[in-house]
Amino acid sequence: MSELQATVAENNIEMTEDLGILKEAFTQFTTSASELEQSYRLLKAEVGHLKQELSESQLEKERLREEAERNHRLAVVGEMASRMAHELRNPLGSIELFASLIRKELSGNPEKQQWADHLKTAVASMNYALTNLLLFTGKPQAQCRKVDLSQLIATLFPFIAHRLEQHQIICKNEIEPDHASSYPLWCDEDLMRQVLLNLMINAIDAMPRGGCLNLSAKEAPGRRQGQNRQGILVIISDTGDGIPKERIPHIFDPFFTTKKTGTGLGLSIVQNAVAAHGGSIRVESTARGTQFILHLPSQPEAR
Ligand code: ADP
Repeated sequence: MSELQATVAENNIEMTEDLGILKEAFTQFTTSASELEQSYRLLKAEVGHLKQELSESQLEKERLREEAERNHRLAVVGEMASRMAHELRNPLGSIELFASLIRKELSGNPEKQQWADHLKTAVASMNYALTNLLLFTGKPQAQCRKVDLSQLIATLFPFIAHRLEQHQIICKNEIEPDHASSYPLWCDEDLMRQVLLNLMINAIDAMPRGGCLNLSAKEAPGRRQGQNRQGILVIISDTGDGIPKERIPHIFDPFFTTKKTGTGLGLSIVQNAVAAHGGSIRVESTARGTQFILHLPSQPEAR
């Protein structure tokens, strides 16, 4: 091999080696480029994701701000409503007192005495609504003492008598004095009166075409002589159309109502008041009627 040929051959080898290096570098470059492209895509997706999270958290922040503002407004309105309710109670007391005096004056005229009775019923209605409002805006505190259930129920009849008559509803009251199902309750009398009244008025409202309102009570299962006392069950049931299954989870929510002039406060108050007694309430309903079952614990020292 001539010297020239040898040099060319050497150059060829070098070129081939250089080409190999170049090729490898190019392959590495292509791989890195596609890896880079993939990282870029991932990064872009991540940025998009973060952007979405940011806008969602901004929306959530805005929602929470609006909710806090609404709660504040509600608290202010609640405060005002409770002050007004307190203010209205005094004049209502006077109206009731004068209605009683007028009734006495009209003792010789039963027909006109009824006018005074209407006044008293209207006052009782307003008192009932105001008490609900006050109980809703404040936290019910139960100041318990021994209360005769039958006597407590008896005080409610003058208030519901007109509604029962108006809708031709029969009331079967098994909670009568000296009856086996009359029990001493350990409760706050005013709170319990409002609880029972709310449940009885709901039952009456559920029977616009007449029906039967049943009141009964029994010992809670497990209470036996000489054993731990479990408390008392008070049952208020009606023969109305019942509560559709899908509605039941909402009926204790504040402001939930299906009535034209309802407030949706009644059952929420009932639930809070019963809880303040350490008791519970449950509802059973079919298309043939509804029953609310109150479980009230017995006197603490007896438990
Ligand atoms: P309101 O009586 O002002 O509607 P409540 O909180 O007392 O408020 O009741 C909420 C809702 O529960 C009622 O609007 C009604 O739909 C339902 N409800 C309560 N009691 C009964 C009942 N005995 N029968 C049928 N529905 C009832």
